[in-house]
Amino acid sequence: MRPWNFSAGPSVLPLEVLQQAAAEMSDWHSTGMSVMEMSHRSKEFMQIRDEAEADLRELLGVSDDFAVLFLQGGAQAQNALVPMNLLGLGPARKADYVVSGSWSSRSAQEATHYGDIHIAASSQAPTEQWGSFAYFPTPDSWQLREDASYVHVCSNETIGGVEFNDWPKLERPLVVDGSSNILSRPFNFAHIDALYAGAQKNAGPSGVTLVVVRRSLLGHADQQCPSVFNYTSLDAQHSMVNTPPTYAIYMAGLVYKWLKAQGGVEAMQARNQAKAELLYNYLDQTDFYANHVAPEARSRMNIPFLLHDASLDALFLQHAEQAGLLQLKGHKSVGGMRASIYNAMPLEGVQALVEFMKEFERRHG
Ligand SMILES: *Cc1c(COP(=O)(O)O)cnc(C)c1O
Repeated sequence: MRPWNFSAGPSVLPLEVLQQAAAEMSDWHSTGMSVMEMSHRSKEFMQIRDEAEADLRELLGVSDDFAVLFLQGGAQAQNALVPMNLLGLGPARKADYVVSGSWSSRSAQEATHYGDIHIAASSQAPTEQWGSFAYFPTPDSWQLREDASYVHVCSNETIGGVEFNDWPKLERPLVVDGSSNILSRPFNFAHIDALYAGAQKNAGPSGVTLVVVRRSLLGHADQQCPSVFNYTSLDAQHSMVNTPPTYAIYMAGLVYKWLKAQGGVEAMQARNQAKAELLYNYLDQTDFYANHVAPEARSRMNIPFLLHDASLDALFLQHAEQAGLLQLKGHKSVGGMRASIYNAMPLEGVQALVEFMKEFERRHG
């Protein structure tokens, strides 16, 4: 059996997907070619790309009102490309950013190079009850500007373990960084106008970034926007302005097929809920470990936790690895541990983690 892999990203992929990719590695569907060796304009690759797009549309529930793009550059490239493509929606070049953790902070910071960026709300300041970035600034607290071209939010802060998805219908376009919880639950695209995600957390390997954008927002890119990153051109040319990340698209496509076979995002939501509850319930009934995120904002994808005695951290990690529980070290800015339990982590993996944590507590508590 493979060990359980709790990496925050790049992260665990379904074993069936890895095995299928391995079986097809040197000869895809009797073509005599690896997917890596195919022209991106060949009919074989076009079929792979088209199926990936169709499956992703079906999983997300987005109609032809939206463009579905496969790009290079990673999610952080979108911190510049969202403003370059969408600030021009309004003459004032304004955008409002909700800051709920490390990733949305970076998004807002990068955007300042392109226009007039306003922090509509931030959870950086601790409250009496919750620490910095340990809660989500709920929509009723957002200070939005009338003439903003869009509002930017992050649906899951991978580092802080804060998640929020209950977006209101805004007057202005809502842009979501969904890198670490895309496809983990249904997203309401009646209220979302653009979503981007690096694939390497929950939707495939690194190397491909997904952009889903309402077509009515296209056509306003800055002149300086690189043509290979212009959403309008990418949509018109089926993400083939230049060579797309072909193998990563193929792998992501296999993940989509796996997700459909599991029952789609509703089934994943139920499973992810059960996994997260198991771990949070245990964290809440022990003093040996703690999670400090406000309960209503707790992520079901990334669960940071601290040992009451940080001097045991190294031992915890060492024993965890020996027990087949990998990559549990927390992000350096938060410390402690972090269990990322994306779609490809089954309930059994979380059960194994909780059993290990109980045993570690018995020995060292
Ligand atoms: C990992 C991550 C990013 C950065 O992704 P890159 O592809 O490395 O640029 C951005 N946003 C969120 C929410 C992430 O989890």
